[in-house]
Amino acid sequence: MIPAARPIIGDEERAAVDRVLRSGMMAQGPEVKAFEEEFAQFVGGRRCIAVNSGTSALHLAFLAAGIKAGDEVIVPSFSFAATANSVALAGAVPVFGDIDRRTFNLDPDHVESLITPRTKAIMPVHLYGHIADMDRFEEIGKKHNLTIFEDAAQAHLASLNGRMAGEWGTAASFSFYPTKNMTSGEGGMIVTNDADVEHMCRMLRNQGGVIRYQNEVVGFNNRMTDIHAAIGRVQVTKVKAWTEKRRENAAYLDANLKGVVTPYVRPGSEHSYHQYTIRIDGATSEARDKAIELIKAGGVGCDVYYPTPIHRLPSFSSIHDLPVTEELVKEVISIPVHPSLTQEELEQIVSVVNDVVTRI
Ligand SMILES: *Cc1c(COP(=O)(O)O)cnc(C)c1O
Repeated sequence: MIPAARPIIGDEERAAVDRVLRSGMMAQGPEVKAFEEEFAQFVGGRRCIAVNSGTSALHLAFLAAGIKAGDEVIVPSFSFAATANSVALAGAVPVFGDIDRRTFNLDPDHVESLITPRTKAIMPVHLYGHIADMDRFEEIGKKHNLTIFEDAAQAHLASLNGRMAGEWGTAASFSFYPTKNMTSGEGGMIVTNDADVEHMCRMLRNQGGVIRYQNEVVGFNNRMTDIHAAIGRVQVTKVKAWTEKRRENAAYLDANLKGVVTPYVRPGSEHSYHQYTIRIDGATSEARDKAIELIKAGGVGCDVYYPTPIHRLPSFSSIHDLPVTEELVKEVISIPVHPSLTQEELEQIVSVVNDVVTRI
């Protein structure tokens, strides 16, 4: 079976972990600091704060930027639960916006219709590695005095008109979970252009202080370890080449798949293809699930991101009118695009998928 995702861990990662273990100092230290500095090259030199997960990155960014109880933050429902969990954990209320049918990303017009006096922020997700309509969100943010965040967990090295994921708004959060485009084992990075937000994130991740035993605010232990940072530092040197390979794989799939809707890429946008997500236009969820079964039977791993929109999960179950979200959750299938695919595997993916769509 061709796996849906395949983390690439090599001798350099193993050697880096070994170096840290031998040093005897494993907690947050010089490796974390170096990882923060090295990651900054991908986000226009913005301030980077490493934490123990992408979810912690989202959570601390909200708290540091002053999001609090009673505030509303507009997010997509067509995303991973962490997008909304982090809003709720900051005490605020996630308000779910619908998405654009072509890009799977938050629809700015619908977002504008959801703004109330309690709305404090908008957090688009660059889903699958395609940058959301950030220029519009920036405009809307200015007009209504809202803070803009980015959930960039899936968007390492994605860009729009030369601006990288992480370069918009007040703060962006990246994830280094093993299936993401680069990994540190578990881990996350907050990226900001605001020195006060940076300082507060540094305190919040470390019991509320940056100087030992001088805790200034109530904080967490959300630190990244030097073991994880050492893995991340190796991966950061490789993610550019991997992203190029993802783009080549995607171009091959674009050119050869038939009978499905392939991912749309906006002009000026560079997709990072965290996922390569096709749509079976007009499919029922039964037909889509049947297609998944057949694709897997053909030896090709695939999955649905995400089978239940967040607003319908038991954790949030709220009534929202999100017709595009409801339609697209039935139609999407993510197929392998990861950088270690061989030409034979790409050909197998194309022939299996093209055959399956004629049979459902
Ligand atoms: C992976 C992911 C997260 C959470 O990151 P973790 O590192 O798993 O905590 C948040 N949002 C999105 C869109 C993700 O894909």
